[in-house]
Amino acid sequence: MSELVISGLHVEVETENGPKEILKGVDLKVASGEVHAIMGPNGSGKSTLAYSIAGHPKYTITSGSVTLDGVELSELSVDQRAKAGLFLAMQYPIEVPGVSVANFLRTAKTALSGEAPKVRTWVKDVNAALEKVGLDGTFAARSLNEGFSGGEKKRNEIAQLELLTPKFAILDETDSGLDIDALRIVSEGVNRYTANGDRGVLLITHYTRILNYIKPDFVHVFVDGRIVAEGGAELADRLEIEGYDKFVKAAKVDA
Ligand code: ADP
Ligand code: MG
Repeated sequence: MSELVISGLHVEVETENGPKEILKGVDLKVASGEVHAIMGPNGSGKSTLAYSIAGHPKYTITSGSVTLDGVELSELSVDQRAKAGLFLAMQYPIEVPGVSVANFLRTAKTALSGEAPKVRTWVKDVNAALEKVGLDGTFAARSLNEGFSGGEKKRNEIAQLELLTPKFAILDETDSGLDIDALRIVSEGVNRYTANGDRGVLLITHYTRILNYIKPDFVHVFVDGRIVAEGGAELADRLEIEGYDKFVKAAKVDA
């Protein structure tokens, strides 16, 4: 069993006007086999949390810690974090002109497992993973994310998840901008990833609709840089009805 543990996490971001505190004490524990949904309004710091765990250089941990199986992540480089089993699907996947999807995946797989995957089975695996998310084989030859529609970028992230099989996946708004069919396909990909029960997911979203397809074990409401409420899947249903307003107001009173 693996565990991703976030304790007392405070994070600042560099801005033009100097550092600004975004995360104001986050505590969260994700064990393998668990799906945690982080739900909160725009600007509450959800992506900052994702980037801080993944090691984005713009975000500085000022106090607190993030550990993966007891190893302090801030002491690891971004690629060491990936090798340790962490995967981040970014809210806005970046375009990498000149690097094909196939090459990118092969390089990532090689770096993660320490040896190049066998060419024959690998091409088959890549095509199968793309096909499962509704992308045809021509995508393998295209530059990573270049000219991809929003939905294609998200599908491609899920194909990566399928092929790289990390221990923990942080999915930042993987549902945003998807039409109903794509939402179902992406959700099915996440469910395949969690099916064997030894992987953990941090599913960041501000809509509840993806939770109709992916059942979270825990729901955390995120407002103004911290978790303000926690519960099971029923909390998402409550949010759908009540919105974030009440939680935002309560957080302001506390602050
Ligand atoms: P969310 O993902 O919940 O919408 P973010 O983590 O993207 O929220 O942003 C939280 C807050 O931090 C916002 O007010 C945003 O403007 C600010 N922020 C995040 N990154 C930066 C940055 N690089 N420069 C300036 N402000 C930032
Ligand atoms: Mg975000």
